[in-house]
Amino acid sequence: MVDTSFFCFTQLLGQEKAKRLLSRSLAAGRVPHAYIFKGPEGVGKRLFARGVAAAVNCRDTKLFGACGVCSSCKKFRSMNHPDFLVVSPERGVIKIDQIRRLTKELSYPPYESVMRVVVLENIQTMRREAANSLLKTLEEPPENNLLILTAEASQEILATLTSRCQVVPFSQLTIDDTVDILVQQGIDREAARPLARLSEGSPGKALLFQKMKMIGLWRKVVSFLSDPAVDRDRDVGELLQLAENMAVLKEELPSLLGLLKIWLRDLLLGDVQNSGVEQDGGALVKSWNSSELFDKLHAIDKAERELARNCNKNLVCEVLLFRLQ
Ligand SMILES: [Zn+2]
Repeated sequence: MVDTSFFCFTQLLGQEKAKRLLSRSLAAGRVPHAYIFKGPEGVGKRLFARGVAAAVNCRDTKLFGACGVCSSCKKFRSMNHPDFLVVSPERGVIKIDQIRRLTKELSYPPYESVMRVVVLENIQTMRREAANSLLKTLEEPPENNLLILTAEASQEILATLTSRCQVVPFSQLTIDDTVDILVQQGIDREAARPLARLSEGSPGKALLFQKMKMIGLWRKVVSFLSDPAVDRDRDVGELLQLAENMAVLKEELPSLLGLLKIWLRDLLLGDVQNSGVEQDGGALVKSWNSSELFDKLHAIDKAERELARNCNKNLVCEVLLFRLQ
């Protein structure tokens, strides 16, 4: 599936401040030599960078933004534009060699476009040496190049780089916008809401959660716990099996516990449609009073503390499920 939404970044959901800043400078033809897109992971920085790159290179000059059909836009569409480069961390770090290669590339004119656009992702991963090398390029930027740096946090190493760029702030999206984006991506609405909340308004992170094995297990655990037909003595085997499956999750387990907390908090607020798992035809689900729900939330907190102390995972998950029942 070709993602065409970036052609007009102003139509993307959320990030109103970034949209305003970018639209203003593009409309006035005052594009700086470097932007820094600053904000949390997974909230659209890369998508906006592609949108800006397509807009500054679109052949349809009458149009603000990108037309989506000219020869330049077509190349962006097929992710095959020779003057659009993305430099990402290699094994978690942007290395000085990558900056050197980039500097060399920038010294040549763009192949075919007015403006070569280079996205340098997650520059907070650069060590000082690489940052200093990049700083030189930012101080004397070669013509016809636009650099878009993205960064998650403002750390000390970034201050000098930031001062040479126009800062565009990105923030977490609202939960509703995140849900809508996830639904557009094909995730069902029932799962989208808790995922949006677990990711704290980061569609990118939510999509990563969605790919995890724990999602399926989380749904099973919620069905098991809320099913009034489950008998705590008779169905103990099923409970132990779920606990065992949870215990083998490794680094995904905290996310599953996070989703369980969101589910219980929603029940506490009486917001059952947010629970993430729809019961057949609104059939009976187990109901708990608020003090029972608080007990269950505390049980999860306790399990989290025990897991942090490396207690036996199987045992922690078993005890937790017994307490959540
Ligand atoms: Zn175009």
